[in-house]
Amino acid sequence: MNSKILLAAFAALIAGVAGAQTDYEGGPRALYRALAEQPHETLKMGGGEIDVVFADGAPGLDRKAVLDWVRMSAEAAIAYFGRFPVEKVGLLIIAGDGDRINGGTTFGFAGSAIRIKVGRAAGAAAFGSDWRLVHEMVHLALPRVVPQENALWMMEGSAVYVEPIARVMAGHLSEEAVWSDSLDGMPKGQPGPNDGGLDDHPGWGRSYWGGAIFWLMADIGIREQTHNRLSLMDALRAINRESGGNGVEWSERQVVEAGDKATGTHVLADLYAKMKDQPVTVDLDGLFARLGVARKDGQVVFDENAPQAKLRRAIVGKS
Ligand SMILES: [Zn+2]
Repeated sequence: MNSKILLAAFAALIAGVAGAQTDYEGGPRALYRALAEQPHETLKMGGGEIDVVFADGAPGLDRKAVLDWVRMSAEAAIAYFGRFPVEKVGLLIIAGDGDRINGGTTFGFAGSAIRIKVGRAAGAAAFGSDWRLVHEMVHLALPRVVPQENALWMMEGSAVYVEPIARVMAGHLSEEAVWSDSLDGMPKGQPGPNDGGLDDHPGWGRSYWGGAIFWLMADIGIREQTHNRLSLMDALRAINRESGGNGVEWSERQVVEAGDKATGTHVLADLYAKMKDQPVTVDLDGLFARLGVARKDGQVVFDENAPQAKLRRAIVGKS
């Protein structure tokens, strides 16, 4: 081997090593390659398989703690959807600095895949209170709604709305925490003076929390019309079963129609027609008052005599 080839080989080796961790956070090519080529550990839960890959071995991570957290997150998704939302997902765990879990992203076009970063110093508190992996698993359950520039609110709103409910149903979160998030977050989803409908997606608040308002209204509407016999959960489970999850692309209208078919109502279609291209300010104060939820001295308090207190409990799976 002459020195030129040796030098080229050495440069390639350095580039490979130096790029190893950061590469995964760009486009999904490196993610899919890692899932295909690196060793994995398979968790079988709720009829699905989760292939966990520790990116480049993810040195410094407590593997048992990570796998327990993956199981716990899957339990929440299974509680809500009645099964693990896809037959198979590749989950790439990237080791990072600090004690937090962040940067979750879900992909579907080349097989269901999630990438998430776990801080090497993450302990029981970070794993126990994490919502990000459940959020990503909710994305697995629903088709990728296109065109994405319009439908971001539909996907993000559903994940924001379902994630805490799923965690309560699995016994991992308190009922108060769900409503604490809604009381604080949903006002950020109201349209501003220059905003259009949800399909115009003017920013983060409208997409994430405006979308969450849509799904809360849908849940309440379906429960009202079916005397609490059916709910958004039935609609979303049907969408999950019919699509098979995030491996396929659907239009917003397909999502709405499949959901309504499952509940025998027009709740989703009516809400969608109202909110997709018009700025709709929802009377959140009135809505929370009817559900019997408020914040007093920083704490979430429930009024069990409120007209829809029973419906509020049913939303998180309590009778
Ligand atoms: Zn999301």
